Amino acid sequence: MNVINPATEEIIAVLEEDDHLSLEKKHELLKAGQVSWAKRTLEERLAVVTRFFDLLDTEKEKLAAILTAETGKPLQQSRNEINGARTRIKWMLVHAAKYLSEEMVSDTGDMQEKISYEPLGVVCNISAWNYPYLVGVNVFIPALLAGNAVLYKPSEYAALTGLEIERLLKAAGIPEDVFMVALGTGQTGELLLDMDFNGFFFTGSYKTGQHIYERVAWKMVPCQLELGGKDPLYVTDDVKDIAAVAAGTADGAFYNNGQSCCSVERIYVHEKVYDEYVAAFVREVKSWKSGLPTEDGVYFGALTRKPQLAVLEGQVREAVANGASLVLGGHVQQGPGYYFEPTILTNVSNKMKVMQEESFGPIIGIMKVKDDEEALKLMQDTAYGLTASVYSNTLDRATRILSQIDSGSGYWNCCDRVSAGLPWSGRKHSGIGVSLSHQGFRAFTKPKAWHLKN
Ligand code: NAD
Repeated sequence: MNVINPATEEIIAVLEEDDHLSLEKKHELLKAGQVSWAKRTLEERLAVVTRFFDLLDTEKEKLAAILTAETGKPLQQSRNEINGARTRIKWMLVHAAKYLSEEMVSDTGDMQEKISYEPLGVVCNISAWNYPYLVGVNVFIPALLAGNAVLYKPSEYAALTGLEIERLLKAAGIPEDVFMVALGTGQTGELLLDMDFNGFFFTGSYKTGQHIYERVAWKMVPCQLELGGKDPLYVTDDVKDIAAVAAGTADGAFYNNGQSCCSVERIYVHEKVYDEYVAAFVREVKSWKSGLPTEDGVYFGALTRKPQLAVLEGQVREAVANGASLVLGGHVQQGPGYYFEPTILTNVSNKMKVMQEESFGPIIGIMKVKDDEEALKLMQDTAYGLTASVYSNTLDRATRILSQIDSGSGYWNCCDRVSAGLPWSGRKHSGIGVSLSHQGFRAFTKPKAWHLKN
């Protein structure tokens, strides 16, 4: 398997993919390793993860360089991702005992009722490339803390990072047979679906997620899916500082080149502030630098996947053919590297692909609305349900709208944000199950009800 630097198109590594035999061997080892790992105390497991947390900091520069080389993410954004992953791990370290320990529910003297949280066993984590540290940590850290063993399949676009994660976990003290990496493309992922895991935890596209859900259903084990989104954002007419709102929301749309599951993907703006907002938005985006992701001050690096360039071109072509105005960008940039111009479309309609299908790139459609009712109707018009955002001076106005949208997260005056203490979940085509928060620990456990009569 070739690892390609998307900013230069150079092959930077050649890796051997796992096959059926190597995966079976790893699975057998993990089954044995899990039994002894689960017998360790939570304190011992916490100590190991604490060392991993420290190593991520010690080796940050090296890890950020590798992440940037294989994904095209600007170096500073790679550092930010590692810092963000450490913040999440810290939260998990602090809260693990609270959510994984036994709970006494009632004790009447002659009858005790309590719950214990047993590990699932060996879990399979098939992961995405856009934030390999963040989405990886959401799964393998609580899974390991709860006493599971993990077979981790990094995306083929973040395989070197997957190997670094394995190296650091081992250096931190995770036994060889408790965390292992499966290398390869979707074909390797497909082989994993035939295997006898005690849970499947997937982060990726709706298309693959739906396929995995169908393929493993008969196994009757947990299957959690963190999928894509078409996240809407509405700017009301009572916002005070339009330039600041435009800057913040543009960052929500374009950070990581728009390759975030919770990127702002559609913007609706009240007609009273529309012109001023669009002008400030365009000004802001034009001020950001594109270039090699290793250069200082670059905001737009390369896109990670070459095929996405054609998807973005197609969305622009279809929108313009149906009456949209191309305010900025709209084209693939000359290579080497997979670069797409930051793109802003106005006069869009909700029927266009750019307002319905996940773009996952530096492109945004902005639409004028006459009131909150129209904005709400348009925001609700999607197959996805990951996040939604309202910018307004009034919390009541924002919550009235957000509470009617079927999404896992609601943002008031912020966007493109994840917090370790809050449940991260998608609805409809955005997924099934919850990571982070107390539920993100419990997802890796089986509760046992204890009825103890004296
Ligand atoms: P993808 O679905 O193409 O691939 C994800 C993983 O699945 C990869 O490891 C891939 O090798 C594997 N895979 C592909 N085909 C498979 C098959 N048939 N069987 C088993 N495994 C298979 O997604 P991607 O391009 O890596 O990630 C981008 C998507 O992930 C976007 O839609 C994004 O919104 C979503 N995402 C969601 C979240 C979230 O928390 N909701 C977070 C990050 C990314």
